Amino acid sequence: MDAPRSEIRVGLGWDAHPLVEGRPLVLGGVEIPFPKGLQGHSDADVLSHAVSDALLGAASLGDLGGHFPPGDPRFRGVRSLELLRQVVEMVKREGWEIVNVDAALIAQEPRLGPHLQQMKGRLSEAIGLPPTRISLKAKSPEGLGALGRAEGIAALAVALIAK
Ligand code: MG
Repeated sequence: MDAPRSEIRVGLGWDAHPLVEGRPLVLGGVEIPFPKGLQGHSDADVLSHAVSDALLGAASLGDLGGHFPPGDPRFRGVRSLELLRQVVEMVKREGWEIVNVDAALIAQEPRLGPHLQQMKGRLSEAIGLPPTRISLKAKSPEGLGALGRAEGIAALAVALIAK
């Protein structure tokens, strides 16, 4: 049983990027075989971005774009899982312990189910949490809207922190 905490906070993260030809598809730090990838200044890893924003939000530390501005050449092509590691350090530096993370990927294609375990492993290692405290789901937008036309992929995440 964990020690009692005097303070707990929850944070929400959301992100979406367009799918384009000629880019690798990176989700949760895992490169997924698919003819298209997500467009963005970094590797456009929506899952790492959403989880990072959930953690920053819980700790009231702003958002990912504020800490790693998209126009900054230092972050061009950067691996977003590395940014997530830095976010975890920022949150811990404020005295917070990360309790759990729950995330959902919303993609019409490709099918992400077969890759969830690997992504979860990468997130677990980057956040420093056992896999039992990380939940990851792949949801279909059921053909609705731009996501349903497979024009992009979105991710949602919540994180709980305590001290
Ligand atoms: Mg993003």
